[in-house]
Amino acid sequence: MSECLFCRIVAKEVPADIVLEAGRALAFRDINPQAPTHVLVVPKAHHESAAALAAADDGLADDLLKACHAVAVQEGVAETGYRIVFNTGEGAGQTVFHVHAHVLGGRDLTWPPG
Ligand code: AMP
Ligand code: ZN
Repeated sequence: MSECLFCRIVAKEVPADIVLEAGRALAFRDINPQAPTHVLVVPKAHHESAAALAAADDGLADDLLKACHAVAVQEGVAETGYRIVFNTGEGAGQTVFHVHAHVLGGRDLTWPPG
């Protein structure tokens, strides 16, 4: 059994509120939402970070970005605006080391993000 929380969600060993399954990507609601829409989009395959995903160079990053946009459309925030965030490394607040895009929307999002 994997030690990785998001691998376990992908394997359906840990329950999650799944909103979209799109080929090699899975999207589920964040348990601690920071906006009315706060969905995490992960590749089903384990990659530690956005940097590792980019280095994999197999089109998976492309799939993940497309899945993020599909989530935004499905959640009804594509028109009003949404944010895609990859916290990359501990210094940037990454706490789960299975790459995930945060898709945030449904409220005014301020900048800089802090
Ligand atoms: P990050 O800090 O960028 O690594 O983001 C990790 C995110 O995972 C946080 O926003 C957490 O609220 C979220 N999270 C942690 N455990 C779970 C879980 N079991 N199901 C859904 N989201 C989770
Ligand atoms: Zn994993």
